[in-house]
Amino acid sequence: LTMPALLARTVARCGDRDAAVFSAEGIRWTWAEFAARVDRLAAGLGDLGLKKGDRLGIWAPNRSEWLLTQFATARIGVILVNINPAYRLHELEYALRKTGCKALILAERFKSSDYVAMTNKLLPELAQARPGALNAQRLPDLRHIITLGQTAHPGCHRFADIEARGEGFDRAALDAISDRLDRHDAINIQFTSGTTGSPKGATLSHRNIVNNANSTTDALDLTEHDRLCIPVPFYHCFGMVMGTLGCVTKGATIVVPGEGFDPAQTLATVAAERCTGLYGVPTMFVAMLEHPDFARHDLSSLRTGTMAGAPCPIEIMKQVQNRMHMSEVTIAYGMTETSPVSFQSVTDTPLEKRVSSVGRIRPHLQVRIAREDGTTAAVGEQGQLLTSGYSVMKGYWGDEARTREVIDTEGWMHTGDLATIDAEGYCNITGRVKDMIVRGGENIYPREIEEFLYTHPDVSQVQVFGVPDHKYGEIIAAWIVARPGTEPTEDAIRDFCRDRIAHFKVPALIRFKPELPMTVTGKPQKFIMRDAMIEELG
Ligand code: ATP
Ligand code: MG
Repeated sequence: LTMPALLARTVARCGDRDAAVFSAEGIRWTWAEFAARVDRLAAGLGDLGLKKGDRLGIWAPNRSEWLLTQFATARIGVILVNINPAYRLHELEYALRKTGCKALILAERFKSSDYVAMTNKLLPELAQARPGALNAQRLPDLRHIITLGQTAHPGCHRFADIEARGEGFDRAALDAISDRLDRHDAINIQFTSGTTGSPKGATLSHRNIVNNANSTTDALDLTEHDRLCIPVPFYHCFGMVMGTLGCVTKGATIVVPGEGFDPAQTLATVAAERCTGLYGVPTMFVAMLEHPDFARHDLSSLRTGTMAGAPCPIEIMKQVQNRMHMSEVTIAYGMTETSPVSFQSVTDTPLEKRVSSVGRIRPHLQVRIAREDGTTAAVGEQGQLLTSGYSVMKGYWGDEARTREVIDTEGWMHTGDLATIDAEGYCNITGRVKDMIVRGGENIYPREIEEFLYTHPDVSQVQVFGVPDHKYGEIIAAWIVARPGTEPTEDAIRDFCRDRIAHFKVPALIRFKPELPMTVTGKPQKFIMRDAMIEELG
């Protein structure tokens, strides 16, 4: 199915049920209302001159216009380019130039404090050709800037006006455009999180993402009776594929607490909307569980959900199951380049496996664990995880060489992650190839030390990484965020390690931090921590 064909099927099946609720905006649409808004916007964008294969960038937090844009662009085959809300000017320019965007939708200001408010400065620069700024010479393809909000900016369109242009659209003409789309056509350029460096734009087809969205919600037994709370960013595959598109595959209600993640707002929305499912990366669940008002919210409607995107500590999984009523919560593993999910536990995965692994390979996908020399590892032996099948991206947009580095001639995606698979097929992600620490010739996996440190009662978050050292090659560093109200010391942590883990795994450098450097998708950026430690050590 293509995205428009999928949405049409859901509307036919679920028409007057709730499609989407945006709590902060006070918006509630049925599937029929949602589809009508999508069509109007698609017609408006078509009227601007956007057509199949053109790229439209969106740079905005989780707002209703984002969801409309996601499906309106797909309706007419325009390729949606999701742009990280945390980008600064030069990164935005890079993404727009790299993908040759013809139009850009942007929020005037990002209300949420996690996002950078800079559009006031940006808009005039975008609209007027100014040397050294974003301008016509440097962005020759950019024709239209569309702003969210009431204010009219010179040289820009207002989103509402584009929708108005689509008023009284010709339904048959839109259908004719949708019918000509092919499921192998590119429909999104999704940027990766930028956890290990600068984000890469993965080109994905309808077939890639529609099938993956369907698969990941199958794992949750999601139906039109479910209401899924989505506090993860739309701009990322977790929000836009597993989240919004996943709900469309099942007719489940999309519930969006606010523009950016806020633990209290998310808990309140789950309670008020009687959500049955909740998505989040581990750090989001930690923030909710530790929130002072946690106990005040009635979360008894919750049944399921997904924790994904980064290593999911067993301790946190247990708390999510027990204290948040999410007895059926699953862990998923994936990456933007594979649409994204390749492993996920399912509702009837035994509890023990559900907390300790990322589940089994999803149907219709293949997996191989490769040793460094390329041969296939034995059962239980660690190596690099390779996956193949329908979910592998078409490639990095405009970057043939980089694509060939990660997808080999047999179609295997080299994930850059280390994993083991047991005799029953359950997979354990043991870390990123890049993050492995080699200390005095000994291979050390930060994940193992992190899991151990999470069992310390005063540790809220911890990240372990290697720092160059003239004697050992690398030594181990740990950055810790203490649980509110506790003040652990370096010695206390080291004492805790003694006799419980091998001496060479005990971090040589322990630092306490109020917070850790994170991507907008909630992933700890070890390269920033490592650089800071190197600087500190001189
Ligand atoms: P970049 O590629 O830009 O450095 P990124 O790899 O974090 O960033 P994403 O595509 O958002 O970008 O994330 C995919 C990665 O997230 C995986 O390769 C893996 O390292 C990590 N990941 C995802 N899910 C899990 C999980 N359940 N357990 C452990 N790691 C996970
Ligand atoms: Mg990656």
